Formats: sequence, C-alpha cells, structure tokens
Amino acid sequence: MKNDINRRFHTRVIANIFYSAVVTVLIEIFLVTNVSLVAAYMRNTQRDNAFVEMLTSFDVVVILIYVVFGIGIFTVTFLLLQEKSMRYISRISDAMQSISHGDLNITVDIEGDDEFSVMAASLNKMVEDLRGLMDKEREAERTKNELITNIAHDLRTPLTSIIGYLELLSGETKLDPEVQKKYIGIAYVKTKRLEKLIEDLFGFTKLNYGKISMHVSKVDVVKLISQLLEEFYPSFVDKNLSYELQSNVPVQTISADGNLLARLFDNLINNAIKYGADGKRILVKVHGSEELVTVQVINYGYVIPEEELPLIFNKFYRVEHSRSTNTGGTGLGLAIAKNIVDMHGGTIEVSSDLSGTVFTVKLLVDFDINKENFGKIG
Ligand code: ATP
Ligand code: MG
Repeated sequence: MKNDINRRFHTRVIANIFYSAVVTVLIEIFLVTNVSLVAAYMRNTQRDNAFVEMLTSFDVVVILIYVVFGIGIFTVTFLLLQEKSMRYISRISDAMQSISHGDLNITVDIEGDDEFSVMAASLNKMVEDLRGLMDKEREAERTKNELITNIAHDLRTPLTSIIGYLELLSGETKLDPEVQKKYIGIAYVKTKRLEKLIEDLFGFTKLNYGKISMHVSKVDVVKLISQLLEEFYPSFVDKNLSYELQSNVPVQTISADGNLLARLFDNLINNAIKYGADGKRILVKVHGSEELVTVQVINYGYVIPEEELPLIFNKFYRVEHSRSTNTGGTGLGLAIAKNIVDMHGGTIEVSSDLSGTVFTVKLLVDFDINKENFGKIG
C-alpha cells in the first residue's frame, strides 16, 4: 500500500515534469521561430531594429535570456499542473494540524481516486479509530469512577454503624451487659460484612484483570455440586427450604479449575437461597453429554423483572427489590460467576418468570486452557 502510494506519486511528478518540459520546449520553439520571422520581415522592409537583431544573434547573453525564460515557463507550468495536488496536500496537512491540536471531529473530503485520496481516506480512518479509542477510554474512566463511588459507599455504610456502636460502647453511659452484648454482636456482623465485601472486591479485580492463574484438572461436577449443597444445609434449614439435585449421569468429569467452579456454583446456590426463600424449594439439574455439561440452578418465588435480566451480571448491579429488602449483598456475585464461566469458555444465562428463576451454565467437557474455547458453545 505504502509502496503503491509512493510509486503513484513519483509517476505523477515525473509525468508533470515531462508535460512542463514539452510545454516549455514548444513555447521556446514558437518564440524563437516568431522572433526570427519578425527579424527577417524587418530586415526585408528595411526597418531594422537593434533589439530584434540582438534576439536573433544567439550570443551568450541572449541564450541566457532564453534559458531563464524557459525556466520560468517550466516552473509556472509545473506549478499549475501540481496545483490540485498541492491544494489536496495542504488540506490534509491542515487536517493533521487540527488533529494534533485535539480536534477529532475533522474529516477530509475524498476527491477522485489518486494517491491523495488514499491518504485522505487513511487519515479519516485514523481519526475515526482515534475517536473510538477515546470513547472507550472515557467509558472505562466512567465505569472506574462509578466503581470507586460504589465501593466507597458500600464500605462506608457498615463502617459508619461499626463506629456508631463502638462509640456507644466506649461512651460515658454505663450500658447493661445485655445491651453491650447486642452492640458487640452488631459490630461483629458488620465487620464480617466489610470483610466479605473486601474479599469479593479482591476476588473480582483479580479475576477481571486476569491476575489469577487457572489450575485445570479433572473435576466431577455432580460430586462438586452435591458437596456444595451439603455445605449449605444449615442455610436450607434456616430458610425452611428443601433442595433436590437431579442428574442424568452419576458422574460427570470435565476439565476445569475446581476452586473456581466451586465459587461459581457457590454464588448461584447462595443467590437461590437468598432470593428464593419464598419459593420453599431449590432444584439443581445437571445434564451431562459428551461435549457439554449443563447445570441449572432453579429457585421459585421472586421473579426478576424482564428488563433487569440483562443487567444482573454487571458488577454492583442489584435488583431494586433486593436493595430494599434485607438480603445484604454487593452485587458482585454474578459478575464473578460470569467471569469464571468466561474463563472456562462456557456460557451463563438467566430466565425468570412465574415458573421459576433459572440460571443455566454450560461448560465444555474437554476445556483446554491453551486453546481458543470461546464460541464453541452455540
Ligand atoms: P453478592 O455480591 O453478595 O452476591 P448480590 O447477591 O446482590 O450480592 P449478585 O449475586 O451479583 O449480587 O446478584 C445480582 C442481583 O440479581 C441480586 O441483587 C438479585 O437482585 C438478583 N438475583 C440474583 N440471583 C437471583 C435469584 N436466584 N433469584 C432472584 N433474583 C436474583
Ligand atoms: Mg449473590
């Protein structure tokens, strides 16, 4: 491309030099012939003119005059021929200057089909790409600020009440031991909440910025989920929920990072318990096949509004209902889950209606960390 532009530019310049030379030669021949004719005519009519005679004498000075005149004609013709290109170049250079001063709303009109139009098109493309990059940068900056605001807010809320209760405990007034115990208990719960928030944040940033290295091994998904469900037993009892694990296979081994998968399903089951407490029942379905394993975590009760479904995987997103009820959370659980699924080249989807809220995770059986696994699950 670059060579092509160079070649076309050189060819054009050489052609213009050639045309200018031809024009110069023609004009000079025309001039010399005419001067000679005029001189001959004057001589014939006995009206000799010293100046005309001198022009026909061809001594050094006269030849020099012709040469200078020729150079003049050549220059003017060459400049006229190059004028269009010069104008184009000057427009491109103006545009470049504006861009270098930060004006990215500029575009150069593309005229004709020569090396300059190619240059102008490249410049326009460059400006467009730059604009895209700047927009992305701005968006990233905005998200980062939002993130910081959210973090600050979420950290401050429990901290304020911890400080409040500690002040009460260390204050002048003597509190009776029951009240003291209660305040200490609240401060403890809030501190735990802070700890979880910080852990989540760490976990999320590590996952998000690829700082985590995956340890892929053979994992039995059925066993992993049944163990997790057992670990959650106290929560099921606490929330008066029953649970069931259905699987079409007794064992389903896949290549994956076991710890990350545990975190993924931990988040999904945790949510099902937290948000499905009204539904009395939680169902986990595993469907194994040769290439894929599909896991569905289903709870009943509260339905996520349709317009919020695409948003719940965003970091810090919490459905209004959950914010206003006492199901404390940071809104990072599903963002973490999505990250883990992505790292395994899998997919995660959600549907929610009166027949239940279903989170469907699809994972590759033969996940290979060194291969491009994305897009394998349709
Ligand atoms: P945490 O970071 O502690 O998990 P969280 O549970 O609020 O906080 P996510 O797990 O990301 O955050 O979930 C985001 C939101 O999606 C929740 O606040 C809730 O409103 C909604 N949600 C998630 N899972 C379910 C579910 N099984 N049923 C109904 N709503 C759900
Ligand atoms: Mg959650």
